[in-house]
Amino acid sequence: MDALPHREADATGQLAALEAAIARDLALIAYPEPLWVPGRRTAAGEPILDVLVVGAGQGGLVTLFALMRERVTNVLAIDRKPEGAEGPWRDFARMVTLRSWKTVTGPDLDIPSLTFQSWFEAQWGADAFAALGKIPKGLWADYLAWYRRILALPVRNGVALTALTPSADGLVATVVEDGVARHLVARKVVLATGIETPGRWWMPDFIKALPAHLRAHTGDAIDFARLDGKHVAVLGAGASAFDNAATALEAGARVTLCCRRPELQRIQPYKQISHAGFFRGFPGLPDAQRWRWMNHLLSVREAFPRETWERTTRHAGFTLRTGTPWLGARAAGSGVEIDTPSGPLAADFVIAGTGFQMDVAAHPALVPHAHLVATWGDRYIPAEAERNERLSRYPYLTPGFALTEKLPGTAPWLADVHLFSFGATVSFGPSGSSINAMKFAAPRLAEALAADLFTADAEAHYQALLAYDTPEFPLPSD
Ligand SMILES: Cc1cc2nc3c(=O)[nH]c(=O)nc-3n(C[C@H](O)[C@H](O)[C@H](O)COP(=O)(O)OP(=O)(O)OC[C@H]3O[C@@H](n4cnc5c(N)ncnc54)[C@H](O)[C@@H]3O)c2cc1C
Repeated sequence: MDALPHREADATGQLAALEAAIARDLALIAYPEPLWVPGRRTAAGEPILDVLVVGAGQGGLVTLFALMRERVTNVLAIDRKPEGAEGPWRDFARMVTLRSWKTVTGPDLDIPSLTFQSWFEAQWGADAFAALGKIPKGLWADYLAWYRRILALPVRNGVALTALTPSADGLVATVVEDGVARHLVARKVVLATGIETPGRWWMPDFIKALPAHLRAHTGDAIDFARLDGKHVAVLGAGASAFDNAATALEAGARVTLCCRRPELQRIQPYKQISHAGFFRGFPGLPDAQRWRWMNHLLSVREAFPRETWERTTRHAGFTLRTGTPWLGARAAGSGVEIDTPSGPLAADFVIAGTGFQMDVAAHPALVPHAHLVATWGDRYIPAEAERNERLSRYPYLTPGFALTEKLPGTAPWLADVHLFSFGATVSFGPSGSSINAMKFAAPRLAEALAADLFTADAEAHYQALLAYDTPEFPLPSD
């Protein structure tokens, strides 16, 4: 299906009926209902959040929902972007549709009425869903906005986390809102700050050194209209490289896409491991096995979908050059001259589709603490044949997604900082920043948060048990 049909005549009524069904579904599975986390205040009397979630993209929102279901409700998510603009979907995600298939569930946490399909069918009908190829990215963003609204998830937009400091009261998050810095104190912090975190979008130094008007990363804002009639060189053969090539072609540019590999990656290994056994069992495997699997997965990389291939290659102005690494580049005339093994390549503009690099020190909240945080490189030394510098930079996480100390005893508070991003991949495989793993990963995160909150207050809960004096039935003498 290329374009969406008109909404059903009674779409508003259907959506209202769906929302009523969701309320009933949630009521039916509300057990156990009591709120159970004792409130805390700082020494100065300020309220302390039980969990602060940083980032209100799909990962932050599902974390809030999973916590609500554990009856952990003294929580807040913040996002530096305005409401509706969270995540990449209306920003630098330049594909037409999601890359994942349309029946992948996740944010719904297995509640049928909360699925994307239910939301879509309420408005466009079951036939339209059957005819849908993949989910248009704008609709995915709309679905997430609806999900946030009907679940009444507590989110504040326009609030950026800039620092995180341990204190006797808990974790002190320095946040900036409307240019003003203030503090939020939380017992737990979840960093759901996006796929590239804790790290940065990466490009080779010689591209970075080019004047800014001659180069961009696929994660940057790009004015494609100004590329009309120009020759654009794209480095990389991942999905984002192709999405950017297609967007430039559609804007009227000629595009040469180069990659190091002699052949394009056409196999999607993530599909092979998208089963319950992997999602449940992989996080518990010994380090050596987890490293071996992830060394393979992150080395072969992902294939992009057929739609992306067809969207790009249908343009006469597209040239693919496999087996063509870039060895250097410099500004020349009004454009760029790129060195390749087969000679120079001239372009008016270059786009680096070179992904991101993990680096704990690149996260604003972790910069001063990075030397305290254990990475896989600190915890596991693979055999020579399995050495991989890229993997060794990933943080080494507890089963509950918490950071761990490089040296025991130096920063025990890291156990209260949980990472729900692609940075969890070496520890657990697809997990944070992943739609297809969400239904397994988000409950595991919420369960760990709830268990930690309970354990830290175990004595108070025990005293509450001893003090509990509600009789089940009255005596005649009462
Ligand atoms: C271009 C692109 C396309 C993708 N397409 C697909 C796909 O089709 N299918 C699929 O399964 N996966 C896809 N992914 C992978 C993954 O689903 C997305 O990256 C998804 O957005 C991850 O969700 P998230 O909540 O972890 O991060 P995000 O959606 O990126 O949300 C993170 C949020 O954190 C906020 N934030 C960051 N730092 C701070 C801070 N310091 N203070 C406050 N807020 C902060 C950001 O503003 C952002 O809104 C894609 C990824 C990219 C980059």
